[in-house]
Amino acid sequence: MSASRSMRAPSAVNGAEDDLVVVRPEGLYCPPGDFFIDPWRPVDRAVITHAHADHARAGHRHYLAHDDAAGVLRRRLGDGIALQTLPYGEPVTHRGVRVSLHPAGHVLGSAQIRLEHAGRVWVASGDYKTQADGTCPPFEPVRCDAFITESTFGLPVYRWPSPATLLREILDWWRANADAGRASVLYCYAFGKAQRILHALAGEGEGEGTAIGPILVHGAIDVLNDAYRAAGVRLAPCLRVTGLDDRRAGHPRALVLAPPSAQGTPWLRRFGDHADAFASGWMQLRGTRRRRGVDRGFVMSDHADWPGLQAAIAATGASRVFVTHGHVDVMVRWLNERGLAARGFATGYGDEEDGKDDRNDKDAGDGDGDGDGDGERDKGPGAPDGADALSGPREEGAA
Ligand SMILES: [Zn+2]
Ligand SMILES: [Zn+2]
Repeated sequence: MSASRSMRAPSAVNGAEDDLVVVRPEGLYCPPGDFFIDPWRPVDRAVITHAHADHARAGHRHYLAHDDAAGVLRRRLGDGIALQTLPYGEPVTHRGVRVSLHPAGHVLGSAQIRLEHAGRVWVASGDYKTQADGTCPPFEPVRCDAFITESTFGLPVYRWPSPATLLREILDWWRANADAGRASVLYCYAFGKAQRILHALAGEGEGEGTAIGPILVHGAIDVLNDAYRAAGVRLAPCLRVTGLDDRRAGHPRALVLAPPSAQGTPWLRRFGDHADAFASGWMQLRGTRRRRGVDRGFVMSDHADWPGLQAAIAATGASRVFVTHGHVDVMVRWLNERGLAARGFATGYGDEEDGKDDRNDKDAGDGDGDGDGDGERDKGPGAPDGADALSGPREEGAA
């Protein structure tokens, strides 16, 4: 970051001793409250923004998260975790710090963490998305003095299509494949994206699927569907593909939802010759589609696009902004040029858009090389511009 670009004194940028959140080796730390937000190393007290594996790790003595995150957290971290949950907007006070959770619109149970202490308000957003999708309450701007934002897709090239456009594209692709007698395998992240697709398809028909054909889901997705249904989210009826399923190449009219890690595994054999596609924000870039080796890319993300990031940051009214994830340098420079005191936070968060988080779902497998292990063959869709350059150690496979 160029100091000359900042409109404010460096001290305001680099943080004062009384900052409500600072970076420690274990994670983002609140000094007066003596707790961490989404820590990447084991700590005593962790406030968790959402249940994606890089934000919600194993080994903490005490967890605080949103009510709707409980099911997935317990699934992933075990029933034995010490977990306290809160609804949105209900504050608790810990060592003089008033803590409350507010919708982040990212996945089921995702929350921004609002901290208030001695007249100052800080908000840690975790991951967020500004497009509403019906599977969790939409992102809610929270006024604050300092805002910790993600920047996974913090480049102007990233602009998401409307949900209606996206649904039409998926349906058109599926119908064309079905008419040609080929199953449609759509790779999508098992927690969040798969349920968004199923929720969108819920309005499209009756029975096990739609008028086009049946919807089949991989076991890693099925178990997370249960968590969404338990939280009252409507999903299209679908069938789990089990290890005992018939092994004949078949299901030519089916839409098959599978985690990215299933790509290239024997699990796919039962579908015979099929069309495949990948749903991710990274699909905006043609090179990513090519590297993925799929027929089709659908631009779909659980993160804010560039306009969404700008709108969200502006809506907080924050004068100080801390940037995590992805294109940190670009976002910091952009904000500095607009007179905000911005800087990057080096964190241990990863990028669930590339599907690597799937491996954390235990017992979601369907036998026979089910593909929820390390099926990744490449380094992921990859961030072409040095994304994650500021990321700290990644504890891959944790949790
Ligand atoms: Zn996430
Ligand atoms: Zn994240």
